[in-house]
Amino acid sequence: MKATPHVAWILGLLLSIGLTACDVCDPEQEPPAAPRLHGIVRDAITGEPLPDIEIDDGDSMVISDPDGRFDVPAVDDTIELTFRDEGDPNEYGAYFDFDASFRPDSSDTITAWMIPNVEMESDSFPDFLSWLKYMLTQRNISPHSKERLETWRIPFEVYVPPFMLNGLDYQQSIKDVWDAWEQLVGFDLVTFVDEVPTVGVYIEYIDHGRESHFIKEVSDDGFPKLARIHVTYNYDTTNVHSHLYKIVGHEIGHAFCMGHSNDRIHLMVAGRAPLGWPPTYDEIWLVRVMYRLPRGVRFENYKLD
Ligand SMILES: [Zn+2]
Repeated sequence: MKATPHVAWILGLLLSIGLTACDVCDPEQEPPAAPRLHGIVRDAITGEPLPDIEIDDGDSMVISDPDGRFDVPAVDDTIELTFRDEGDPNEYGAYFDFDASFRPDSSDTITAWMIPNVEMESDSFPDFLSWLKYMLTQRNISPHSKERLETWRIPFEVYVPPFMLNGLDYQQSIKDVWDAWEQLVGFDLVTFVDEVPTVGVYIEYIDHGRESHFIKEVSDDGFPKLARIHVTYNYDTTNVHSHLYKIVGHEIGHAFCMGHSNDRIHLMVAGRAPLGWPPTYDEIWLVRVMYRLPRGVRFENYKLD
């Protein structure tokens, strides 16, 4: 409808009524401007801002803009937000969803680091992803919570004692496996030391049985404290790459706190010897994600190294 003189007259009347009403307002009783919480959503691996992330405060939803920015009403000093990159909560999307309660810092600005699940799309990891997702969507997980994902503070110390048999240098071969894992993951995971560390992982050679991995205890703040990997004497220079690398590589995967996969292409497959070495892209990304994870849900912990 076009604005006719008649409509303009009604609008003018309403406006003057409003002004008249305001003349008697008590300024003391005007509601203060609602505080807003400002934030930016970023990819926890690349640091890139993430547009189109749905941010829900329970009452309303906003979407991060092309620069990853958003703002929401901050009704009190504790606010709960859910971050999701896909409409369907049963979908994984490209990023782990999470939600959190937190106190805004003094600037009322937060950075939310979204954790990508890039390339982890083979059939066997959904259970593990569900678990990760469950973990991340728990609010206020304490360091002692059973649901917390156990990881080491990195880099952690590793002791590989010297051992030679049948012409094979076990110490060097096992260090090579650790080094390969570290290079594939792409950041500092371990430091080699010359004796069994107080906190860290050590290798023990055994003459029978199977390779195994064992975490002795978890520290008060929830981190693994001391882990032992048994390596048997079964190797020589002819099978070091075909056997020792993948068997010890699997145990090292456990030492990184990875669980088992049921996909036979994975190094972390359970119940049988892995098909091969090195670890798959799935597993490399999983370790990357695990060691980028926060120890709780406070947003300032979602940061790059
Ligand atoms: Zn295993």
